[in-house]
Amino acid sequence: HAKTHGGHQCHLFDLASAQQSQLQQTLLKDLLTSIQQNHIKLVYQPQACMQTGDIFCFEALLRWQHPVRGLLYPHDFLASVEHTSLIIDIGYWVIEEGLRQLSIWQKQGFHTQVSVNIAAMHLMHKQFADHITSLLQKYKEIQPQQLHIEITESAAITDFARVNRVIQQCHSLGVSFSIDDFGTGYSSLIYLRRLPVDIIKIDQSFVHNMLTNPEDMAVIRSVITLCREFGRKVIAEGVEKAEQARILRALGCDFAQGYGIARAMSSDKVVEWVSKHSPYQFD
Ligand code: C2E
Ligand code: MG
Ligand code: MG
Ligand code: MG
Repeated sequence: HAKTHGGHQCHLFDLASAQQSQLQQTLLKDLLTSIQQNHIKLVYQPQACMQTGDIFCFEALLRWQHPVRGLLYPHDFLASVEHTSLIIDIGYWVIEEGLRQLSIWQKQGFHTQVSVNIAAMHLMHKQFADHITSLLQKYKEIQPQQLHIEITESAAITDFARVNRVIQQCHSLGVSFSIDDFGTGYSSLIYLRRLPVDIIKIDQSFVHNMLTNPEDMAVIRSVITLCREFGRKVIAEGVEKAEQARILRALGCDFAQGYGIARAMSSDKVVEWVSKHSPYQFD
């Protein structure tokens, strides 16, 4: 397209995109080094059962302590990585780190589950199930049921047959799955219809507006009904207010996660937090 705008513009365009890809190259190189040097870490956000208040799981969220730029959030760096094979390296790192953390907590007498975010693209990787199998063998003290995988979109799933097979293989180990950010982007009805996942995570945008926007409330009500008919559990993300939690619970939402319960915290804060807050009192 740039060519049709003439030589000058074409030059600017090329320069801009060259700078862009240079920046991206630097970022990717930095990230690779940071993985090797342990400058990336996971923080943990609790998920609560709405009926019992039980804090049954922690979602692992990625943070990058960048040597120059300071603490970075996934939003600051994942987009550049999502379409490269580095997203696969990160995914395996995240799973292993989650298992390692579960193992540390377990040694401290704290038994829980960890939910990790894995790009849909990564699930199309041939060795995924084998890799999970060997990680679970390495961390024998962890039950596969303690590991949960959130399918996070970055690109649409193109090969449903393969992803289905991978999910089934992992299911047979005892690992469970959810669809993240349900209702947005690619993560729509076709995923619910075609992937044998256990849990649907209602995107936080619907939850944020449910008290003021009747259409968002209608989406939430419908997704909960739909999931019940499909035999899937539902978790609402982005629950910040007691009123949101009250309504979600009344609608039959199974689980909740959000700043209203707690923000993501570093692993060394988790055990103390749980001892103070579990079972969680929603009202
Ligand atoms: P997500 O998986 O949907 O995670 C929820 C995001 O919403 C997290 O942001 C979390 O801190 C934030 N959040 C939780 N509760 C609330 C709330 O009540 N209000 C508001 N406003 N926000 C809330 P975070 O940690 O910045 O992660 C953003 C996204 O980055 C994640 O969305 C996920 O898609 C992606 N991500 C995070 N960690 C990983 C990872 O290890 N691998 C991959 N592939 N993606 C990751
Ligand atoms: Mg998630
Ligand atoms: Mg989400
Ligand atoms: Mg999200």
